[in-house]
Amino acid sequence: MTLPNYAYFKGKIVPYAEAKVGVMTHALNYGTGAFGGVRAYWNSDEEQLFIFRPMDHFVRLLNSAKLLFASFDYTPEGLRDITLELIRREGYREDIYIRPLFYKADEIIGVKLHDLTDEITIFSVPFTRYIENDEGAHVTISSWRRVDDNAVPARGKITGSYVNSAFIKTDALVAGFDEALVLTNQGHVSEGSAENVFMLRRGKLITPPVTENILEGITRYTIMRLAHEELGLEVVERLIDRTEIYLCDEFFMTGTAAQVTAITMVDYRPIGTGVMGPVTTQLRQLYDDIVRGRIPKYRHWNEPVYVKEPTPTG
Ligand code: PMP
Repeated sequence: MTLPNYAYFKGKIVPYAEAKVGVMTHALNYGTGAFGGVRAYWNSDEEQLFIFRPMDHFVRLLNSAKLLFASFDYTPEGLRDITLELIRREGYREDIYIRPLFYKADEIIGVKLHDLTDEITIFSVPFTRYIENDEGAHVTISSWRRVDDNAVPARGKITGSYVNSAFIKTDALVAGFDEALVLTNQGHVSEGSAENVFMLRRGKLITPPVTENILEGITRYTIMRLAHEELGLEVVERLIDRTEIYLCDEFFMTGTAAQVTAITMVDYRPIGTGVMGPVTTQLRQLYDDIVRGRIPKYRHWNEPVYVKEPTPTG
């Protein structure tokens, strides 16, 4: 992967090579960090790069930091402005992924959250597809269980809890699948290793509620709204049994990285007709149009990166 040229680090934008932490850093030893994953999309017609829903991402990042007892003065607006400056310096003209990372920066021994130094770093890289087969992925149900809110809250996007995601994803990939679904300790469907999940069953779009140890995905909220407003579907948040997935008509995963990934096979069982269904197809197209700023109604979700001269008139 190409390394960035710059990073925001300890309060300023520096060459990426200077953004380094010591091996004793608390977050590196104990997983006491939290991160975001934001995408920006290149629109070649407008020669503009649009960050998708940055404010929602930064609000979530600061909430994750709050769970970890952070105390600092960052605001979502401030983080958005730093990000804009960082990306302008990189001068990208392609799709990118932005990673804001909050971390406990002290170089000390001792597991705790309070009375530590809280830092945020931000960097970005060019990015295309996250799941190779995103038009027809084959997933399995993981033998691992999802971390619980009373152990390591999934809602927090906490760095340490991504060991759970890494176990889930690695076992799936090593076994030849594209991704995996993970169940809660009670045995209901929670989410993917880094994606929320949706099934279409009896004409309704169904997704697990936020109390099922999921990350409260920004793509999830986006898709819930689009399915309802643009496709006229009833969207329901309720518990999902494993075997409902085997029998549903369409199944897909959502995430900033995964976007809308069609799942056409689960544990060797074809979903619906075994090819991407009409609802998934429509949502994928709609999502791509919206993230690239092509739909005026949702243009408030697109943060333009480059400052444009107004077009001269007359
Ligand atoms: N669940 C998990 C565990 C994730 O890591 C992600 C990726 N951030 C998602 C769901 C999807 O969230 P979002 O749509 O906000 O990217």
